[in-house]
Amino acid sequence: MSENSPVSADSVSPQPRLVLATRNAGKLRELRELLRGQVPGLDVDTQVVDAAAVGAPDVAETGVTFAENSLLKARAVADATGLVAIADDSGLSVDVLGGAPGIFSARWAGRHGDDVANLRLLLAQLSDVPDGHRGAAFVCAAALAVPASANADGAREVVEYGQLAGTLLREPRGEGGFGYDPVLEPLGMDRSCAELSPEEKNAISHRGLAFRALLPSIVEALR
Ligand code: IMP
Repeated sequence: MSENSPVSADSVSPQPRLVLATRNAGKLRELRELLRGQVPGLDVDTQVVDAAAVGAPDVAETGVTFAENSLLKARAVADATGLVAIADDSGLSVDVLGGAPGIFSARWAGRHGDDVANLRLLLAQLSDVPDGHRGAAFVCAAALAVPASANADGAREVVEYGQLAGTLLREPRGEGGFGYDPVLEPLGMDRSCAELSPEEKNAISHRGLAFRALLPSIVEALR
């Protein structure tokens, strides 16, 4: 096609408007469903993208809280792309361990992302802890960063939280989910998170709650 050929509007992809600082396809899918129909003129399938789609950098999680880590990631991606960015950081917080594994949940047994080893170590650490003292919660912080270039009043940041409280089982149960799902039984349920359908888990999950709390700020940033 020559430089002067007419280009139909249909053949031009809309520009991304919102970046989720993750490489996790499941998280992107969840965010798109949450935003569908919420922002007039926003095509969630093409304009809400992940970090790889816009060449945004991976960001080291050097903070000491979920909120700090989510903000570090959202801010870095917003700065690098000039787009509105959101990020989350999550983990398991165990009452008798004073909130651990917390921000170290993904590498509790030493190797990042070794879910089986993480879960085994945690159960061993809690083997003497009696029923009634096995409270824990999945916790999530979700952050929004609006770069100065995308907001007349300057850069803006917001953090919201969600949690899913429950009891730690003594043995893993269920085949679904990931991470510590097989050992957390949500309060008021008689199944572990790994025994819930994805829809049941999303409806009560820490991440869903945090992103839903962030929704008004996202809508405002994209208006
Ligand atoms: P990230 O925030 O996606 O990096 O998650 C950190 C780690 O927390 C994961 O690797 C899991 O070990 C744990 N985690 C976070 N959310 C969940 C969940 O919904 N189920 C099970 N484990 C989780």
